[in-house]
This record gives sequence, C-alpha cells and structure tokens, in this order.
Amino acid sequence: MQRIDIAVIGAGLCGLTCAHLLAAAGAEVALFEAAPRIGGRIHALRDAAGTALADLGPTWVWPPHQPAVARWLDRLDLPTFPQANDGDAVIEGYHPAPIRAPLPGQDGMARIKGGPAALVQAMAAPLPEGALHLNRRITRIELAPDGLILTDAAGTACLATRVVLSTPLRIAAHGIAIPDAPTALMQAMRATPTWMAGQAKVVMLYDRPFWREMGLSGRIASRLGPMTEVHDHSSAMGQPALFGFIGWPPEARSPAPLDTAIRAQLTRCFGPDAPAPRSLTVQDWSRDPLICTPADHDGAHPGLPPAILRQPHLDGRLHIAIAEVSPHSPGLIDGALDAGQTAAAALLSATRAK
Ligand SMILES: Cc1cc2nc3c(=O)[nH]c(=O)nc-3n(C[C@H](O)[C@H](O)[C@H](O)COP(=O)(O)OP(=O)(O)OC[C@H]3O[C@@H](n4cnc5c(N)ncnc54)[C@H](O)[C@@H]3O)c2cc1C
Repeated sequence: MQRIDIAVIGAGLCGLTCAHLLAAAGAEVALFEAAPRIGGRIHALRDAAGTALADLGPTWVWPPHQPAVARWLDRLDLPTFPQANDGDAVIEGYHPAPIRAPLPGQDGMARIKGGPAALVQAMAAPLPEGALHLNRRITRIELAPDGLILTDAAGTACLATRVVLSTPLRIAAHGIAIPDAPTALMQAMRATPTWMAGQAKVVMLYDRPFWREMGLSGRIASRLGPMTEVHDHSSAMGQPALFGFIGWPPEARSPAPLDTAIRAQLTRCFGPDAPAPRSLTVQDWSRDPLICTPADHDGAHPGLPPAILRQPHLDGRLHIAIAEVSPHSPGLIDGALDAGQTAAAALLSATRAK
C-alpha cells in the first residue's frame, strides 16, 4: 500500500491553501480531488484559449474586512477592482412596470482581476509535481495502528499519517464512510449547510456594455424573477457581462423554460431594443454531486461552526478544513483561506511535536 505523510481530500480553495502552506514548509503532501478540475465552488467560464471571462461561482471579496483575503491577495500579488455600480438600477415587481432608481449598498465589494479562479491558480501553481491527483474520489477513511487508510472510488487504498478533510461537510457525511468517527461529529457535519450550494448563477456575455450607454448600472432587483438580482460582471480585461442569481428553487430549474424566462426578464428590464446576450450560461450548483446535497436546497447560511468541527479526530490524525468551519467567515472565500491556513498550522505543529 502506498504510504504518504499528509493527505488533503478536496482541491477547493481551502484544500489548496492548506496544501500550498504544507508544501512550502517542506511537508510531503498529496491532494486528492474527485473532480477533473481544481477549485470546487470557484469556477470560471473560459474562452477557447482558457482565459477566464466570468465567474460561475463566487465573485466578491471584501479585503478591508477580510484579513485572510487581504493577506493572500498581497502575498500572491493579485490586484482587485471595485464592483461597478454607476448609474440607475432597474427595480421590478414593486410597481406595475419596472422602474429606474439608484440602488446603493455595494460599497467595499471588490473583484479579483481574473476572478477567484486566479486565486485558485496562483495557490496551486507552486505545488510540487505529482502532488495533485484529479479524478480521485475518496470514499472511505479508516483508522489503522500507524495512520489512516484512505480508499478511493476505484478501490485503491493508501496509508496517510495525517489527513485533512476539505470537502463540503454534508458531501463527506453522505459519501465518505468514516467508521471510527464519533457520532456527534457526523451529526455536526450533516447539520452544516454548504454555503450557496443550492444556488444557480447565470452569466450573460455581450459585445458591448449597452446598459452603461443607457445610464444604467446593469443591476436588477426583482421580485418577479427568475433572476432576483443582476449585477454588472464585466471583466477587468474588458469583456462586457452581466450575472444574475436565480430565484427559482432547484426542482423548478428545467434548462429550456429557465433560459426563455431569463431572456424575457432581460427584455422587460432593459427594453426590447437591448441586444440579446452573445452567450448565456447557467451554472446550477444544486446539480453538482460533489458540492450539493438535497438538504442544501433551502439555501441556509452556515452559522458559527461548533467546536467539534474544529478539533482533530481519529487519534488526532483527521483534521477538518472547509470554508464552513472558519469561525471568522464561515462559508466565504475568506473562510476557505482561514480554515486552510489554520489546518496547515495545526498539522505543522503536530509534525514538529513528534
Ligand atoms: C454561486 C456561488 C456564489 C458565491 N459567492 C461568493 C462570494 O461572492 N464571495 C465569497 O466570499 N464566497 C462566495 N461563495 C462561497 C465560496 O465559493 C466558498 O466559500 C469557497 O469557494 C469554498 O471553498 P472550499 O475549498 O472551502 O470548498 P469547495 O470549493 O466546496 O471545495 C471542496 C472540494 O472537495 C471536492 N470533493 C468533494 N467530495 C470529494 C471526495 N469524496 N473526494 C475528493 N474530493 C472531493 C470537491 O470537488 C471540491 O473541489 C459562493 C459560492 C457559490 C456556489
């Protein structure tokens, strides 16, 4: 059986942050990711050359209020730019027809140049060759006398001295057998919602930012939907774009009717002469079996994580690190960075104490 020192399960931002710090400190680390790509909830719409055009997952950071975000953007030399919000918003569902009005409330919201996907790429770049194992879904973690045995979906097993579990907690509770885990830990994992996992986001690319020419911010606030909010999502590289959050519940999101309803809402809000989007992409996270469970469909926000999720288990060999276990920013990018660096620090001090 292959023997590894530290195994990290899940190559979202949190797992990558942990692996990055462990590798930088000279630890031997293997990162197992079930999907064919890294990033987890951070995912970009790209052109044929691989350039990120728009964010299909998170978009915003608040560096003045998020110490981990501020530190990592500085360390990885990633610039930000403010969320565009000049001009009127379109507000619909409150009056017989949509109205134009200023809509404040986006102060301090920043976007990362290249999107959060640039943060993921920069975090992964220095990992040693061979450390990252894509398409490796871990299905079992079992206590052994000298470590933890990890088994993947293909039945391949390895022995790790220590393990960092960096998958959404409900996904782990449903899809990874951990026979030696305390019942209270599994209950806490099942009870913790994965932030935004039940959400769907739509990204519209345009040839020109026609809303700016109309004195509009691109923002829509709607009680009618299907998009409850829409924002200017033009990239720092100049690709005009809008994105919206879908208010329809997961079970109602059939692709064709949703596409038709989105286009009808764009016409209602921006007028019949507004250009049709060059492309319209819906990313429905509720359909991602590595991120969302049916329990996440209600969109609940994770609360302050209970202590049991922040303690090591299985003889101190299993650490849990995912955005939702950060006591500072549970569920956010800042939380993913915070939880990843906290786990790395705990592992390094445990290794030194040996
Ligand atoms: C639509 C949307 C909008 C959002 N907007 C914002 C925002 O504006 N600002 C903000 O701060 N945050 C936002 N978030 C939240 C942000 O995306 C998350 O906080 C962050 O990406 C979480 O990173 P993570 O590494 O902790 O978890 P994840 O990204 O969930 O990573 C978990 C990883 O584990 C992998 N995995 C699962 N099961 C297994 C297995 N059995 N074996 C191996 N690997 C496995 C998954 O494939 C995934 O790669 C948003 C999220 C969504 C979905």
